[in-house]
Amino acid sequence: MSRAAFRAHLESELTEIQASGLLKSEREIVGAQGVEVEVDGARMLNFCANNYLGFADESTIVAAAHRALDEWGYGMASVRFICGTQQLHRDLETRLSAFLGTEDSILYSSCFDANGGVFETLFGAEDAIISDALNHASIIDGIRLSKARRVRYANRDLADLEARLVEASDARFRVIVTDGVFSMDGSIAPLAEICDLADRHGALVFVDDSHAVGFLGEHGRGTPELCGVADRVDILTGTFGKALGGAAGGYVSGRSEVVALLRQRSRPYLFSNSLTPALVAGTLAALDLVAQAEDARDRLRHNAERFRELMAAEGFTLLPGQHPIVPVMFGDAGLTARMAAELQERGIFVAAFSYPVVPHGTARIRVQLSAAHTEAQIRACVAAFVAARAALG
Ligand SMILES: *Cc1c(COP(=O)(O)O)cnc(C)c1O
Repeated sequence: MSRAAFRAHLESELTEIQASGLLKSEREIVGAQGVEVEVDGARMLNFCANNYLGFADESTIVAAAHRALDEWGYGMASVRFICGTQQLHRDLETRLSAFLGTEDSILYSSCFDANGGVFETLFGAEDAIISDALNHASIIDGIRLSKARRVRYANRDLADLEARLVEASDARFRVIVTDGVFSMDGSIAPLAEICDLADRHGALVFVDDSHAVGFLGEHGRGTPELCGVADRVDILTGTFGKALGGAAGGYVSGRSEVVALLRQRSRPYLFSNSLTPALVAGTLAALDLVAQAEDARDRLRHNAERFRELMAAEGFTLLPGQHPIVPVMFGDAGLTARMAAELQERGIFVAAFSYPVVPHGTARIRVQLSAAHTEAQIRACVAAFVAARAALG
């Protein structure tokens, strides 16, 4: 084995990725993230960010982060339990718990880390983790790290879930694990029915609400609020990197003893640096805004409905739903990639997804609406879809 052989091996892997059409390339944005961005010298309307409430370039949040830089410094140079906990960090944990209606919360560098550190700490070999087949990659990896029995149920399939609960009835604890919203489909987990099944079988419920926290539900408390089960979910995880400001960071929230044990044993929490104060202050400001964001949530709902309505009228096939993730279905991977390229030529920034991210034959362009989109921008996006389709015949 030589370095040359290793490099040749990596190059052949990359060639294979390219040959199968799966190579991801990154387009560089000049300036801040937002509804309008500059890409390769051209202005584009952004329809592929998780910028649901338009907070990514919101001035109040930017100002709060600036103030925190001045007052609290740049970085902590420590993990939380050595000397990396400021009043700000505890403030955010308390505020988040009050917002979500939980007893306590614990911060992580990302939701990926939160999911990576939660299962191994809470569940052991005697337990069973019953997980939706379409759950996020970080949940899959987090479950892999735990010694618990792994059981998968078909996406949002309550009959299959019940069968798996019965199959695992010899486990000490069973926990049902689901995304609140499935990001490739924009579909919402049937949490009321899931909580009923959990009650009937004595199981716990875990929800990763990354694509919902801040905007789904009347007060933006997420999928549990939308489904009327805010007090019946045992463990919640989520991100600050989407609607809640869009920077970075994640959390686990729930009963106080869950959080207390994570502080003692959760490896990504114990062995990774504290969140930077500017980010914590920015997220606190985002939570302030979320508390009064009824108008933005209404606008977001309206924008998603409007886009769905206009696209359906033009004869496009959409996956039905109510979430601001709107998958426009094309089926064929090559066609979908060409559509996305045509749209980008026309100043509409969108992303195409195909196998292996979604099942074979279900390639799609995933459009994501923001409260910050205007009616004119939504119409421009629809017009570009129509023109791109015509250009491709
Ligand atoms: C985006 C997302 C994550 C990752 O969040 P980060 O904070 O960016 O690591 C985890 N889970 C789900 C369901 C997500 O959508």
